[in-house]
Amino acid sequence: MTNSRPEVSLVVPCHDEAANLSTLYGRVRAVMDESGKSWEMVCINDGSKDDTLERLLTLHEKDPRIVVIDLSRNFGKEAALTAGLDYARGECAIPLDADLQDPPELIPVLLAKWQEGYEVVNAVRLSRDGESWAKRASAHVFYRILNRISEVAIPEDTGDFRLLSRPVLEAIKMLPERRRFMKGLFAWVGFRTTQVYYRREPRNAGNTKWNYRRLLNLAVEGITSFSQVPLRLAAHLGLMVSILAFLYAIYMVIGTLVYGNPVKGYPSLMVVVLFLGGVQLLALGIIGEYISRIYEESKQRPIYLVKNTWLRGTDRKED
Ligand code: UDP
Ligand code: MG
Repeated sequence: MTNSRPEVSLVVPCHDEAANLSTLYGRVRAVMDESGKSWEMVCINDGSKDDTLERLLTLHEKDPRIVVIDLSRNFGKEAALTAGLDYARGECAIPLDADLQDPPELIPVLLAKWQEGYEVVNAVRLSRDGESWAKRASAHVFYRILNRISEVAIPEDTGDFRLLSRPVLEAIKMLPERRRFMKGLFAWVGFRTTQVYYRREPRNAGNTKWNYRRLLNLAVEGITSFSQVPLRLAAHLGLMVSILAFLYAIYMVIGTLVYGNPVKGYPSLMVVVLFLGGVQLLALGIIGEYISRIYEESKQRPIYLVKNTWLRGTDRKED
């Protein structure tokens, strides 16, 4: 039984990934044993409904380097990843999707950069095979907007696949927010960063859990986590509309004085009322989004709940 820190922790959030796990393990093991580094693979079962947990436990029995964290329900990828990073004991951690879209074969490249002294190594994808044109285009527009209005630069085409060294992990653990936009948090902490490029593969088996509604939520999450601009936008828009309305009022008063009042104002009145109503609703919506975040944070609930863990060298009969 060894309890020393492994050099590398792979962190794999798993939600209904039973069909991918043995391929994942095979490829990871081949790559990692080749690299000559000591390693562990922290797998988080994020409330799977299939037999993901059973398969993980079988792997754990076979290979104690597989650490299994079972969450009490589905908390979502960002929370599952947070749990995994909390349990990772390695000198560096590499989040990896269970569906093999992030090729394990790239890990040695990340490790080489780490060895050169970089503390964060981002894996930037060159292609998004198997993703629709609409998804790619909307992602591009989202990152353009996000980077224009947020305080930190959040790299486009970089998922959660990256290498984080121990000091970076400790920094991320200090960020207490409940609603976690991980890509943003990774960028926010800073540190000496570089990137490597790779081709993102299509999903190995199963379906993506991201539909457009969840992606839209993630986008709102990202923007409201890292930018106060929308909040200011509401105020600016309101001010602009008020000035316009005021000028229009002067124009109306003068018009009435000069030409009299032929009672024709109904359409313009409706336009003004509806427009103002719209702007007010928009502003309220934006404010509401931020208030809901304050509400969420003020509850101080934990980000995830762990039901059971199978850690390295524990819960094992032989040893
Ligand atoms: N995932 C998770 N919890 C969820 C949804 C997804 O842990 O609620 C995991 C999933 O098992 C996979 C990774 O997050 O390892 C990425 O999910 P997916 O492949 O569905 O997303 P995409 O690649 O389409 O962005
Ligand atoms: Mg995927």
